[in-house]
Amino acid sequence: EKFKDGLSKTRNSFVGAMNELMMDYRTVDEEFFEELEEILIAADVGVNTVMELVDELREEALRRNIKESKNIQPLITEKLSELLIKSDEETQINMQQGELTVILVVGVNGVGKTTTIGKMAKRFKDDGNKVMMAAGDTFRAGAIEQLEVWGERAGVDVIKQQAGSDPAAVMYDAVKSAKSKNADVLICDTAGRLQNKVNLMKELEKVKRVLTREIPDAPHEVLLVLDATTGQNAMTQAKIFQEVTDVTGIVLTKLDGTAKGGIVMAIRTELDIPVKYVGLGEGMDDLQEFIPEQYVNGLFS
Ligand code: GDP
Repeated sequence: EKFKDGLSKTRNSFVGAMNELMMDYRTVDEEFFEELEEILIAADVGVNTVMELVDELREEALRRNIKESKNIQPLITEKLSELLIKSDEETQINMQQGELTVILVVGVNGVGKTTTIGKMAKRFKDDGNKVMMAAGDTFRAGAIEQLEVWGERAGVDVIKQQAGSDPAAVMYDAVKSAKSKNADVLICDTAGRLQNKVNLMKELEKVKRVLTREIPDAPHEVLLVLDATTGQNAMTQAKIFQEVTDVTGIVLTKLDGTAKGGIVMAIRTELDIPVKYVGLGEGMDDLQEFIPEQYVNGLFS
């Protein structure tokens, strides 16, 4: 239900256009496929993905001898799902059973990084984990305080130092503290300055080095937060972060605020990073694990 509500803007525009295309028992011809391409591109599905998808549909329609638009709808749903579920790759968080799981959260300011960390903390806690947060964005004014507000809301401790201090030192403290308190999950905020790629890379490397020294395979996840409403900008950010660090998963925020929810598809297929969570609102509980089938169903039903 959450998924359906959160995707309503996308559904209304995307499915509206799709329904129009499917109406009138249209013949599935070249003109039909071109219109379909336009609709998918308008939903930010991503040009390459759309081309790939529509080519496959063309072939499959021919193979199955589908001539009327009403008969091609299930095939479209099927192909969209296939694209999202490309492999057996986990969309779940790589949790360390019985040991501390360290999650590094990266992303540009304003995308919803702090909110996402707060929501994640709440989720993990609700699942019965002892959760802690590390205030690793020591650069942006107010970032530490904002994280503390979320900490209070979620009932989760925040490890911090003063503004301007070395993020790696904060991480060192945080891991030590999380280990000594037998925490299950440590969620680490980081600074989101993309202006200086080299500095960001150095900072993240240093942070990771500190974590790895304390726990050999930490961080267990590096989640990149992207704002769905920024469309192709989000894709550009993702490409830069991929150069800067090993991103293991994406959190796509503000999916509720866009009619272009097709961006999920572009991210999944063009960046080859799994989407692990989606943000569907500003509230504490508005973070959902990304389940491809639910997403596709949320679009069409
Ligand atoms: P940060 O600078 O990346 O840490 O961004 P914030 O966490 O401060 O979020 C920026 C704004 O986006 C805030 O007003 C949040 O309430 C809002 N926001 C974050 N996630 C979502 C979401 O999934 N849906 C909506 N509608 N708003 C969101």
